[in-house]
Amino acid sequence: MAKRIFNFNAGPAALPLSVLEEIQAEFLDYKGCGMSITEVSHRSSWFDEVINDAVLRVKRLLNLGENYKVLFLHGGASLQFTMVPLNLIADDQVADYVNTGSWSVKAIKEAEIIGKKVRVVASSEDRDFNYIPKDIAFDADAAYVHITSNNTIRGTQWRSFPDTGGVPLVSDMSSDIMGRTFDVAPFGLIYAGAQKNLGPSGVTVAIIRQDMLERVPDNLPTMLKYTTYAAKNSMFNTPPCFAIYVLQLVMKWLEETIGGIANMEEINRKKAELLYNYLDESDFYRGTAEKEDRSIMNITFRLADESLEETFIAEALANGLGGLKGHRSVGGCRASIYNASSLEAVQALVSFMAEFERKHG
Ligand SMILES: *Cc1c(COP(=O)(O)O)cnc(C)c1O
Repeated sequence: MAKRIFNFNAGPAALPLSVLEEIQAEFLDYKGCGMSITEVSHRSSWFDEVINDAVLRVKRLLNLGENYKVLFLHGGASLQFTMVPLNLIADDQVADYVNTGSWSVKAIKEAEIIGKKVRVVASSEDRDFNYIPKDIAFDADAAYVHITSNNTIRGTQWRSFPDTGGVPLVSDMSSDIMGRTFDVAPFGLIYAGAQKNLGPSGVTVAIIRQDMLERVPDNLPTMLKYTTYAAKNSMFNTPPCFAIYVLQLVMKWLEETIGGIANMEEINRKKAELLYNYLDESDFYRGTAEKEDRSIMNITFRLADESLEETFIAEALANGLGGLKGHRSVGGCRASIYNASSLEAVQALVSFMAEFERKHG
């Protein structure tokens, strides 16, 4: 038996053990074809079934109507920072962005690099990005409103989405897609790098509404146009086959083992509550995000005595709890508890934290 730890990495992150075992079992001979899925043509019926099933499962899980397309893209969520404004802001238009941390900052920067006009309508920078701005006034003529639904580094999350008065919402959902239920109707586009909540790195999911596709100008570079991917079932060129295959298995696990996103959300809320309740009761640790805006996916915290943090992270790892170091830009500690991390993992973390507090408190 492989010796595995409880994995709290922020991304790439934990995958369900049963999915890893399934990959292992069929790795050398995929469904009797005598080859690995990493060796077959993306034009083969084997891969066709994989990608079609992946699309169908994403649609079912998110309850998407006929007016949404599911695309598998290259270049990470980071390339979407460019593709979104390139495809969706016309020359005479301005897009509204809400700045809730490093990933929003990057999204804004990339739009400006390609000469698009953006307006930062709200920001939480004044308090170290530890909250989500409220009561924002949006421009009714904006091309779209861009938000980062979950701020992986700062540990904040939009609890409910802003009312934009009909302007399409565009969201970077890299670190919370499929972690909770929500109504997709106000969203023109949702994108997510797969390596947090959906699968391995190497593929980015985009969920795009028909009216957004219709905006895409013809004269863009082929590989940077959403329409190229939409017209060819994400196979204009060779797609990231293995990453899509693993994503398909994770979607199957989410549907068939967990029973869908509502069940997943219930488990996720239990996990987050367990950890937050412990942080709230302790004087030894403290959460860094405002209570009303804190994330159920990335729990960021500090030790009251910050000089103990390095020891905390090292001792945790020695006890089989990995990935608890905060993002290098902010320091501190962070437990990323995405869909694939279990309640058992969070229970083990809380026990360790209590033990560490007894020893060092
Ligand atoms: C991880 C992350 C990204 C960057 O994703 P890449 O796939 O590495 O480009 C962007 N946005 C958010 C919210 C993230 O968590």
